[in-house]
This record gives sequence, structure tokens and C-alpha cells, in this order.
Amino acid sequence: MGLGRLIVLTGPSGVGKGTLMRSLLRRHPELYFSVSVTTRSPRPGEINGKHYYFTSREDFERMVAQGELLEWAEFAGNCYGTPRQAVEQHIRKGEWVVLEIELQGARQIRQNFPEAFQIFILPPSLTELEFRLRGRGQDSEEAIARRLNHAKAEIAAADEFDIQIVNDDLDKALEQIEMALFATAGVA
Ligand code: ADP
Ligand code: 5GP
Repeated sequence: MGLGRLIVLTGPSGVGKGTLMRSLLRRHPELYFSVSVTTRSPRPGEINGKHYYFTSREDFERMVAQGELLEWAEFAGNCYGTPRQAVEQHIRKGEWVVLEIELQGARQIRQNFPEAFQIFILPPSLTELEFRLRGRGQDSEEAIARRLNHAKAEIAAADEFDIQIVNDDLDKALEQIEMALFATAGVA
């Protein structure tokens, strides 16, 4: 059995984290994607238990109080958190666990799990980021504005991460993520 590992993928909303993550999981089904809990409403097509566990704020606060979340943060008016138990179980089994989380959560993970490998995904430009957020067509104008506002502060923190990858060409970005993950572990 190999050694378990915690991998964090962070970057501004709309940069393409979800898209990259889906491709990564298709190509490496042995990776375990940690499904987060959120108080945000589901977007069209999002499935409870697959994309997120959608929950009430009351229930989220109970989870925080009972220490059930490995990290959590409030982002653009909603709460998001990583369920502790599943992550710990999979790491104990020797699996590689991937978290797709925002900056505050990534910082909490860095504090508590300094051995975690942290990747930051950058957009080619802020203009392109805005284009992608709008192109996704799933957030209100207000939500887009809030996300773009956050993006600048998030991008300024990119250097805190082990590696920065620009998601310009999707296949190239994916290749760089694979190189970073599998090369650092000494696995081909
Ligand atoms: P995030 O999960 O970071 O919020 P998404 O994966 O939802 O971002 O991507 C936001 C939008 O950008 C989607 O419409 C997606 O298809 C598009 N996108 C993702 N990566 C690229 C890329 N390399 N080039 C162009 N568009 C992209
Ligand atoms: P979205 O609403 O676009 O799905 O997600 C908004 C932001 O929350 C994204 O940056 C996403 O990575 C982040 N996020 C998703 N799940 C978690 C989580 O469990 N914890 C933290 N801290 N952020 C999360």
C-alpha cells in the first residue's frame, strides 16, 4: 500500500478548477475527490453528494461546532467546508485525497497539514477570468462581481503555494498538474 497524501487545488472562482479536476479524476480514478459541504444553493445540474453536500446554515454551524470539518470558510456569502472523516479515512488507507477549496481553507490546511501539496491555478488574465465566469452562465451579476473582487486578493497569494499553474490551454495545464503530482512522488 502506498502512502496517503493530501493535495490542495486553489484558485479564483471561474479559473477552471472544476473543469481541471473532472479531467484529472477521469484520468486518475485512483484519486479520491473530497466532496465539500456548502450552504450555497445547487446550480442547475449539480447533484447532492457528488458536487457538494448541500446543507442549511444551521446544519453547517452544527458541523463546525462538533469539529466535523477539517477546514471551512465563508466565501461570497456562503459557507464551504471539508468533511473531516472521509478525508482521514482515505488517507489512512494510503489514498491520495484532493481538495478543491478557496484560499482561507487552503491556509488552514497548510497550518494543520504542512505536508499537504498545494497547487494554485492562475487565469491567463483578469479579463479572461471575467469572460469565463460570465461564460459559465450560472451565477448572477452580483455573484460574478463578488467573485471577481475576491479574485484579485486570491491571485496576490499565489506565491504561498508549492506550485502555480496558468490555466490557459486546458490540456497543458492538466499536464502540468500531472507532472507536479506524479513527479514529486517519484511515480511515473
Ligand atoms: P471554477 O471551478 O474554478 O470556478 P470552472 O471549472 O467552472 O471554474 O470553469 C469556469 C468556466 O471556464 C467554464 O465555463 C469552463 O468551461 C471554462 N474553462 C475552464 N478552463 C478553461 C480553459 N483552459 N480555457 C477556456 N475556458 C475554460
Ligand atoms: P463555487 O460556489 O463556485 O462552487 O465555489 C466557490 C469557492 O469555494 C471556490 O473557490 C471553491 O474552490 C471553494 N470551495 C469549495 N469547497 C470548499 C471547501 O470545502 N472549503 C473551502 N474553504 N472552500 C471550498
